[in-house]
Amino acid sequence: MATIKLENIGKTFPGVEALKNINEEIKSGEFFTLLGPSGCGKTTLLRTIAGFYHQDSGHIYIEDKLIDDVPAYDRNTGMVFQNYAVFPHMTVFENVAFGLKNRKMPNDEIKKRVAHVLEMARLTGYESRTPDQLSGGQQQRVGLARAMVIEPKVLLMDEPLSNLDAKLRVEMREEIRDIQRELGITTIYVTHDQEEALVISDRIAVMNAGVIHQVGTSWEIYKNPADVFVASFVGETNFLEGEIRGGGAEGVTIIVGKQAIRAKAPAEKLKGKNIRLSVRPEEITLVKNKSENPNSTVLEGKVIKNTFTGPLVRYLVDCGEGTHLVVETHKPEQGSLIEIGTTVFLNIPINSIQCFDPDSGERLR
Ligand code: ADP
Ligand code: MG
Repeated sequence: MATIKLENIGKTFPGVEALKNINEEIKSGEFFTLLGPSGCGKTTLLRTIAGFYHQDSGHIYIEDKLIDDVPAYDRNTGMVFQNYAVFPHMTVFENVAFGLKNRKMPNDEIKKRVAHVLEMARLTGYESRTPDQLSGGQQQRVGLARAMVIEPKVLLMDEPLSNLDAKLRVEMREEIRDIQRELGITTIYVTHDQEEALVISDRIAVMNAGVIHQVGTSWEIYKNPADVFVASFVGETNFLEGEIRGGGAEGVTIIVGKQAIRAKAPAEKLKGKNIRLSVRPEEITLVKNKSENPNSTVLEGKVIKNTFTGPLVRYLVDCGEGTHLVVETHKPEQGSLIEIGTTVFLNIPINSIQCFDPDSGERLR
């Protein structure tokens, strides 16, 4: 097991600053995920750690050992790629044994190790098949077995599930998580899929344009986003913009359209200014009859869309002046869908509203 330390890592390709001053420490045995949109620098960072790219600035340590000048094959990392990267002309056994043969390991030992990882990857019995006789999920398990058979200190995975269909992706992410827990191997996992990241990770680094915006547990990232980018990229949310009118210790009043919303924000600094609010669809309760509550704001609106997805109902509610809010409910109180055109009341708890500086995008606390 190994810790990984990234110190001021910078990397520029012609015309693109792919990584800007990345600082992070990944703990021993941790499942650490790089999450961000396509092109944000995830692969570049992973390949730099693996040693396939060399950073322009900064240092990388594995287990406190500086590895800047250690070539990729000596870094003791195993890599799993998006496109499986299995050898098509070799059997499953040969694919997995390849790295060990290169290391001139005795045949008996190779057989033992390959059998062990194939069992872990649920591929026992498939030893003599070639990749074209395997499903996508099985090919990716071969990729995983091949990375793990060399018993690396660090496992690096670059969007390993993105070529699989949706159902298999959900199954495989559980498997990968189970195997990682069992081995306790320090893992850096790359994905652009926020749900996958939330489910699989001990901690997540949310990246955009070569910068890490926030690092935290799934809970922290989702419930306490550091800025507008994280709030919008991870999960779904409603953004509103309004002007702060006044407030005190219990909160501020923000005018959105013609209605007032109460939230917690530093009022003194912001009076008369615009502010950005975010509230998740599942935090809002929708009722047909107005009921006041000291800990929440009630907005009036009209249902303009209702969608039944099975486990939940989604409403789009027009609160006037261009303010549209998405509301999600798992237990619809009404017993049936509320029809389009119905006047409804939205109950928004003060504590569920997050405020952001409209200029910097940073969270106001
Ligand atoms: P991600 O994996 O998050 O989609 P990448 O790390 O692949 O992002 O890319 C980050 C940025 O660097 C992108 O703008 C991409 O076009 C650029 N880039 C990546 N690899 C190279 C390369 N080998 N040569 C030139 N530009 C590259
Ligand atoms: Mg990539």
